[in-house]
Amino acid sequence: MIDTLIAFDLDDTLYKEADYVRSARREIVRQISCRFGDEYPKLRDTTSMIEVMEQHRLHGPGAFDALAATLPPEVEQAFGSVYGMVRVYRSHKPDIALDPATLATLHTLVDNGATLAIITDGRIETQSIKVRALGLFSMINPALVSISEAVGSDKHSPLPFLRMMAMSPSARRYIYVGDNLTKDFIWPNRLGWTSVCLADTNGINLMPQVIAPNTHISPANMPARVIPDITALPDLINSL
Ligand SMILES: [Mg+2]
Repeated sequence: MIDTLIAFDLDDTLYKEADYVRSARREIVRQISCRFGDEYPKLRDTTSMIEVMEQHRLHGPGAFDALAATLPPEVEQAFGSVYGMVRVYRSHKPDIALDPATLATLHTLVDNGATLAIITDGRIETQSIKVRALGLFSMINPALVSISEAVGSDKHSPLPFLRMMAMSPSARRYIYVGDNLTKDFIWPNRLGWTSVCLADTNGINLMPQVIAPNTHISPANMPARVIPDITALPDLINSL
């Protein structure tokens, strides 16, 4: 695989984004409890605050609104209400890790000579903290970690993919591994990459892999290959 560049999506491809959201929720209640627990003893009960948020979807703002509504007004104001929570969400050091199968697969690909990269949409701060927390900088050259805010364009445009090709001129084939049917495979397909979708077998991705009614995804934008889990990737690449 020495001629092969394999670029991965980050969220819900290399780890489950639900784990990130849960980590952020824990950090938010930890900070509220530390700052205000002495004055308001009920705020020492982090479990209850987590339970308030657990009533709400992992995706979307409902959980923060609900938690803010339970806080004493002075605390809510001092913490910055939902905006303060979003700030913690985006900037906290997440308690996330690669699962053993993912870690082993990435090592196999590196041992086989492939060059690994990441193309992800999101904020520079948030996405780079995740990459570091997952230990990915030990396997991926930081120059090959592409974050849409830094590139100036997300995966709906060819720029992140063209930039990656320019950054790896010795590669002869390019593979993109992602999960999002609405955007991940459009430009890899058009640029001659092999697109691979990691199936959300357990249905826990934040972006469901069911195509909403009345939504049409052109066959040209669908992944060329679908794998049930990441351990199937080395054999798939060897078979191309
Ligand atoms: Mg994703």
